[in-house]
Amino acid sequence: MPEFRAPTGTFDVLPPESRRYERLIGAFAALVDRAGYGLTVSPMFEEIGVFSRVGESTDVVRKEMYDFDDKGGRRIALRPEGTASVVRAFVQHRPPVPWKVWYAAPSFRYERPQAGRFRQHHQLGVEALGTDDPDLDVEVVWLLARLYADIGLSQVSLQINSLGDSVCRPVYREALLAFLDSRRDQLCDEHRTGYALNPLRVLDCKKPACVAATADAPLPVDHLCEGCQAHWDRVLAGLRSVGVPYVLNGRLVRGLDYYTRTTFEFWAEALESAQNGVGGGGRYDGLAESLGGPPTPGIGFGSGIERILLACDAEGVFPVPAAEVDVFVIDTTGGSAARDITTELRAAGISADRAFDNRSWRAQMKAAQKSGARFAISVEAEGIQLRTLAEKGEPESLERATLVDHVKKRL
Ligand SMILES: [Zn+2]
Ligand SMILES: [Zn+2]
Repeated sequence: MPEFRAPTGTFDVLPPESRRYERLIGAFAALVDRAGYGLTVSPMFEEIGVFSRVGESTDVVRKEMYDFDDKGGRRIALRPEGTASVVRAFVQHRPPVPWKVWYAAPSFRYERPQAGRFRQHHQLGVEALGTDDPDLDVEVVWLLARLYADIGLSQVSLQINSLGDSVCRPVYREALLAFLDSRRDQLCDEHRTGYALNPLRVLDCKKPACVAATADAPLPVDHLCEGCQAHWDRVLAGLRSVGVPYVLNGRLVRGLDYYTRTTFEFWAEALESAQNGVGGGGRYDGLAESLGGPPTPGIGFGSGIERILLACDAEGVFPVPAAEVDVFVIDTTGGSAARDITTELRAAGISADRAFDNRSWRAQMKAAQKSGARFAISVEAEGIQLRTLAEKGEPESLERATLVDHVKKRL
């Protein structure tokens, strides 16, 4: 047993598995870049108020925040999700709007470790602030749908709902509370006493008691005000127009209080239903204001990298990519030729690797084959030879001076 191990509830992502992280983040970055989103890098920790202000009634904020006092006596929390930090940055810097950004970053929760739940996990996300144009909702949802499609996921369903806004949501909330009051005795143990804190969460409860008791509960979409209804209609029309199929899910509510209007989740049908949420998000038109900024509408999503990869495994898509190197340089003349040739090849944009420690030709050849390289360049006292590793053919002689040009032509 080594003396030190990764902390409880955490894991190392190492090659070759880490190549999937690299590919996934690369695919995501390229996709959102094409849509005008810029990278944002925010601190992994914030004053705890940034998170508690926006999610007092959620489990992640009440029970699972990874928080502590720092040496300066500040109450600090590692970020439990991506949105609050990005919106805090928006309020602090007041960039021109619309402000469209993306991130790929770790999130932290302090909870009892269990299968599939970690104290550190990793999320991809976008946030777009400064407009409540429903076409932006369509853009954001399309981006996440497209990411899943780009990596080969096909069994993913978009669940979508509208939660109303500060005009119609309070009215709806009262209607729901009155309904829940009348069904109190039929709710699950947790919600029988706790439903008043965040009544919408009861709609999302998976316990059979709550599911049965709320089967005919009033739903947010049936209480939308005129503005919210028009917004909702245009979002759905837009999704149809850009070709994103959706499932209307009137019971879909998200864990954080600041969500308004459009809210959505993508469910991976190949995963167990308790853990099939691969990503989701929605509007948070009240969030910037609750963090001390001017009233600023916004929308975003987050999608857990580990959950996405689990869904890929379940569908048998997006495998760990094979190691890729164009050229492996074998050198039995002391290693300096391998040093110089790999450097020249890499400078010319060709991927190249080599063996170290002056090992035998046989050992270096083995390493070349293991590397997945297409070509091996072998430098021996008698001269330089190029072999195509997958073929058994005769090696080709190379001149040192024209070696890089020659390899470039062969690739
Ligand atoms: Zn319940
Ligand atoms: Zn409304």
